[in-house]
Amino acid sequence: MNEALHIRIYGVVQGVGFRPFVSRLADRLGLTGSVANRGSYVEVHAQGTPDALEEFRAALEREAPPRSAILKVVARPEPPFDADRFAIIESEHEAGDIFVSPDIATCDLCRDELYDPRNRRYLHPFINCTACGPRVTILDAMPYDRVRTSMADFPMCPECEYEYTHPETRRYDAQPVCCNDCGPELYLLGDEATRGRAALDAARRTLIGGGIVAVKGLGGFHLACDARNPQAVERLRRLKRRPAKPFAVMMRDLDAVRRECGTTPAQEALLTGHQKPILLLKRRQDSTLADAVAPGNPSLGVMLPYAPVQMLLFRADDELDARMTDALVMTSGNLSGAPICRDDDGAHAEIASFCDLILSHNRLIRLRCDDSVMDFLEGRPYMIRRSRGYAPLPFLLSDDLPGQVLGIGAELKNTFCPAKDGLLYPSPYIGDMADLRSVNALRESIARLDALLEVRPALVACDLHPRYNTTAVARELGLPMLPLQHHYAHILSCMAENDWQGGELLGLACDGTGYGTDGSIWGGELLKCNWRGFTRLAAIAPFAQPGGDASAREGWRIAASMLHSLAPADAPALAAELGLCTPAEFAVIATMCDRRVNTVVSTSTGRLFDAVAALLGLRRASTFEGEAAMALQFAAENDDTADAPPLPDCDGGAIPTDALFRLILQGRRDGLPSTRLARLFHLGLADLLAGACRHWRDRTRLDTVALSGGVFQNTLLTRLLADRLRRDGFRVLLHSLVPPNDGGICLGQAAAALHHLNPGA
Ligand code: ZN
Ligand code: ZN
Ligand code: FE
Repeated sequence: MNEALHIRIYGVVQGVGFRPFVSRLADRLGLTGSVANRGSYVEVHAQGTPDALEEFRAALEREAPPRSAILKVVARPEPPFDADRFAIIESEHEAGDIFVSPDIATCDLCRDELYDPRNRRYLHPFINCTACGPRVTILDAMPYDRVRTSMADFPMCPECEYEYTHPETRRYDAQPVCCNDCGPELYLLGDEATRGRAALDAARRTLIGGGIVAVKGLGGFHLACDARNPQAVERLRRLKRRPAKPFAVMMRDLDAVRRECGTTPAQEALLTGHQKPILLLKRRQDSTLADAVAPGNPSLGVMLPYAPVQMLLFRADDELDARMTDALVMTSGNLSGAPICRDDDGAHAEIASFCDLILSHNRLIRLRCDDSVMDFLEGRPYMIRRSRGYAPLPFLLSDDLPGQVLGIGAELKNTFCPAKDGLLYPSPYIGDMADLRSVNALRESIARLDALLEVRPALVACDLHPRYNTTAVARELGLPMLPLQHHYAHILSCMAENDWQGGELLGLACDGTGYGTDGSIWGGELLKCNWRGFTRLAAIAPFAQPGGDASAREGWRIAASMLHSLAPADAPALAAELGLCTPAEFAVIATMCDRRVNTVVSTSTGRLFDAVAALLGLRRASTFEGEAAMALQFAAENDDTADAPPLPDCDGGAIPTDALFRLILQGRRDGLPSTRLARLFHLGLADLLAGACRHWRDRTRLDTVALSGGVFQNTLLTRLLADRLRRDGFRVLLHSLVPPNDGGICLGQAAAALHHLNPGA
């Protein structure tokens, strides 16, 4: 006796081979019926014996394709229907919760075909299948079908068409499917007559010769050069005007990675997985890459090739293979601060002068997408930049939160977050809003992603700072606005990532710079938070931050200001002796602080790190954000002699970091090694912060602490602090797949906006 089931499957089920999987499964179990994409979900009608239906229902989740992510399956019995086979029904569009797949790294089967001389896609730079290839970056509109992607420009040859339309092939319904006969083509920008294999050869010869090549990948252009060639790497640094910020390296294969870096099994799984982020790995002592790749840095940002053109740079089955390096610097192709170039015009205008050759192709990138960057903390992924491979996968809040909103994100490391009915979709990385090109990229990307996800926001959350460019873009939308304090938004982001369903909690935001509700600069704040608002309970000891923007890069200014406020008799001479500044410069800082000229009051933990790094002679100033703080962390990791120093308790509103600074200064005067003092600083700061949490737990009875803010990219401090808090009986909420830095802000903004629309939830 046959029965029938009506099943809806919600989640990332578009563009990952879900319908052919369902169809094969139904055939195997002898079921009849149909499967269709409904935009928001996959709909199945299935008919067969009760046993077969039960097995079908279980296997749907058990055997789902590896790239899919099922959020929910709803199955209901329905009356039997007429059908003599199981059919795949073409896409019909329906509004609802939309899931757009991120781009997926080239799969192993496609990689094997790429290097199989008998395969008709042998060495095809655009090989892909139902389980891999570009997705969101080529998508123009939903539902995900070829006519609505950049591949609409490339009519399929008969063989590709056959695979595309036949469920038994690996390329059924693979929108970007193509081959050497019908696909896009490589070419050299500015020398378009050089195409295909000739263009690839020219690029490889340039790399072998120590040159710099811009390469168009999935989400934008990279600048590439041989990471084993010091002259090439140093030349790229000069051209890009990037003296010290580490470059990412793309390695040929896992063996090459193991020769340069230490890895754990979890890290190797991520390196070789389908998302292929840049992973921060410990560099081996005997690493032979050029030092200029990551000067003075014990870590290395490493990734494996994720697009076929990148694989072909390393190996193209010819005589160049033997001369080709196994490690290429792969850094975003952009001007410092500007978004990554995604088209030929942008590449021509912005990065042509940084390279000897531009290897482009004619598959359009519709949404730019930088590489994701990930660290590890307590054995779990710890995201630094969430973009390719992850965005725009949604986060789900369990609270019932109908409504549509937008979190516009932060001014630095901007990402934005459309959200709808409890589903939040953080965007790919956009960039720093100080650059107008980034502001335009933000406008353009919001329009595109809102359209793809069919989000029409009723409320837009932004930063409290009235003069931020993000605030201006939010205003342009002409919607009601919800301004949120920067550090509160950091904590909201951590609450959202952990699907916080409780009431109030403690939020500790240790960060660079944010605009406080009192007009001063915040960044070392203990807050009492819920989804509706916050109270500032405590902050690190305030200091004068003289020199406006310069003081964010020049830690010596903060150190001199702190020295001035401690007022030892020999302060000017001491500042000179410690290499902070000349007595004349010290006098200028002292005057600025005393008269409050171009000087703000600050509780920024990031600036405190800069000051201590300057005091210890590690970095007087930074050439990129976080440089001084990283130097301080690395120094601390080179010491295992220090014990936590004795420090006063938190007495309420003030976390006595000034006492810690004084202690480090004394150690410096006593001639203690900078590594030991760096360690003392980390231990002391962790103790002070944990002490403040204990103090306020006793008064609020809140024993959950969320840790967020850019300073928590420092995994040493985060580990020390989380250990202390747990030992003291706290429940600690940490980030994992959302960055603790400003790149995570948009998620918190969007979550708060959804709660704002639902005051009863
Ligand atoms: Zn594939
Ligand atoms: Zn073809
Ligand atoms: Fe921040």
